[in-house]
Amino acid sequence: MKTTDVLIIGSGIAGATAALKLAQNPQGRIILITREPDPHESNSRYAQGGIIGRGLDDSADLLVADILAAGAGASLPKAARILAEEGPGLLQEVLVGTAGITFDRDKGGDIEFGQEGAHSRRRILHVGDGTGRAIMQGLIAALQKYPNVALLTEATAVDLITYPHHSRDPLAAYEPIACHGAYVFDRKGKAIHRTLAAVTILATGGIGRIYRNTTNPPGARGDGLAMASRAGARILNAEYVQFHPTALSVPGAEGFLISEALRGEAGVLLTPEGRPFMEKYSPEWKDLAPRDVVARAIHTEMEAHDYSYVLLDIASHLFRVQARRH
Ligand SMILES: Cc1cc2nc3c(=O)[nH]c(=O)nc-3n(C[C@H](O)[C@H](O)[C@H](O)COP(=O)(O)OP(=O)(O)OC[C@H]3O[C@@H](n4cnc5c(N)ncnc54)[C@H](O)[C@@H]3O)c2cc1C
Repeated sequence: MKTTDVLIIGSGIAGATAALKLAQNPQGRIILITREPDPHESNSRYAQGGIIGRGLDDSADLLVADILAAGAGASLPKAARILAEEGPGLLQEVLVGTAGITFDRDKGGDIEFGQEGAHSRRRILHVGDGTGRAIMQGLIAALQKYPNVALLTEATAVDLITYPHHSRDPLAAYEPIACHGAYVFDRKGKAIHRTLAAVTILATGGIGRIYRNTTNPPGARGDGLAMASRAGARILNAEYVQFHPTALSVPGAEGFLISEALRGEAGVLLTPEGRPFMEKYSPEWKDLAPRDVVARAIHTEMEAHDYSYVLLDIASHLFRVQARRH
């Protein structure tokens, strides 16, 4: 059995940034576990396009408005406000300051903000097209400098330890639920151990991999959602699984993401005959509509015309840029 102040389950960007922030208190002991042999392996590692910051002509109010519009009534305004107001400062403090991540700059040395769907401003910070890889490398390297953080790999949480769920007293079922850590399967030692913690943070990522077509890596199978549900937590909005609208269509191959940043730089979706179609579905945003709108539009076109794929045309944009340069 292990004991700790904070148990964090998952070492992607959510778990690793929580660990890094908490590690600033040298009195606090943190155990950070991941099921993977390599602590970088996670959805976070594969993020390409970038991460939301605050653009040049941007504000928290504009970001809140964009999030609520894209959320179509399901986003909690209070949560959107916290993200919009506190996010850019925390990004600077934790990712740039503590983890030392260098986001791309233009020739003049200013941060180069990218454009993505549903954003009314250029506000995406990136590191080439491997932003997630750079972030995970920075976070894991920074965490290894803190003696109060134990990073354990090949350690799979199998269930949360909760009172009264694991109590032998039948009357305990009437008491409020409290979490005291997790049962963790040590894959190297092939044994399950209890890890008791004053606070447990579930940061196990998404569930995309349960679908046949996905851009998510094999680890995104929803362990945390299942554990939380068994422990009696209320699971909200689990039906909203976001799909990247564009992935390479090669029969039998993994769906390699074709980054949204391509549409941010004026890539246009076309039918196999070369007909642009996004204007019909989103006259205002066209190819930069929110992902659910773009994914539905592609699906509708494919169903209606029996297409097995659609095209993403970036070449004519590049050609136009070159033509303007000459
Ligand atoms: C191809 C791709 C591109 C993307 N591009 C972008 C982008 O450009 N910008 C953007 O904002 N978002 C992007 N995303 C989405 C983004 O990557 C995720 O929203 C984000 O990484 C989620 O972070 P997380 O820490 O919550 O989960 P993850 O990064 O998935 O981390 C989950 C962690 O939990 C661990 N874990 C899971 N189950 C267990 C268990 N039972 N026991 C122990 N550990 C466990 C995993 O090993 C992992 O360490 C992209 C996603 C993909 C797949």
